[in-house]
Amino acid sequence: MKQAKVRLYVEQGLGEGQTIPLARDQAHYLFGVMRMAVGDPVLLFNGRDGEWRCEVAFAGKRGGELVCREQTKPLQMPPDLWLLFAPIKKARTDFIVEKAAEMGAAKIVPVQTEFTNSERIRQDRLQAHAVEAAEQCGGTYVPEVAELTKLERLLAEWPEGRQLMFCDEAEVGAAKRLAASSAKQWAILIGPEGGFSEVERAKLKALPFAHVVSLGPRILRADTAAVAAMTLWQQALGDWG
Ligand code: SAH
Repeated sequence: MKQAKVRLYVEQGLGEGQTIPLARDQAHYLFGVMRMAVGDPVLLFNGRDGEWRCEVAFAGKRGGELVCREQTKPLQMPPDLWLLFAPIKKARTDFIVEKAAEMGAAKIVPVQTEFTNSERIRQDRLQAHAVEAAEQCGGTYVPEVAELTKLERLLAEWPEGRQLMFCDEAEVGAAKRLAASSAKQWAILIGPEGGFSEVERAKLKALPFAHVVSLGPRILRADTAAVAAMTLWQQALGDWG
């Protein structure tokens, strides 16, 4: 059997014999760029039905059709972990979203804190980065990228039972690690380049669901901190086994 060279996220339902019509840009990518022809395999996933091996059934200039043959992976949901981060410069924000999707976040939430550099984000572009990362890393799930939300509002509407790993740069060098926990719903919070304000810090520390954590003896940039925090969380409480 030919190896599939392409793995794509689609919105349509996937199941045996199911046909998937291709939009113009998808057809251009598969047939124009990747030079695929009728009979060639493609792996598809949609975040609900696992991963499917499909074949090109029709290859046109402006469209095409794939047909689903067999499931190659079941749906594997990541742990119920949200990554909350304050958006920074464009390329670094893109990096955070990409890494969060690869590392197994269930939801990515850009938050506006007092010292957040950027007031706006392109949510659709960030979502597209999460899709690309999932296509590339073999995941069968794409985390949702939420709209930019004020930290205050997020905390006011905090869901019951969800724990918060608060990565606080003021704890640099302190021995504050993530303790064992049986809670299944979590969020990680990473601040902006300017860090958290004293008011925010005091408020966050007083929350009954907050766990203050240090990320070692050096101050990490926000993008590094996001990856480091997700590694620690996944290792201690997540799906890294
Ligand atoms: N400008 C700030 C640092 C901000 S670093 C200062 O100099 O104090 C950006 C974010 O990364 C922080 O808000 C925090 O969430 C996280 N972070 C970086 N290094 C950390 C550390 N050693 N411990 C805990 N969190 C850290």
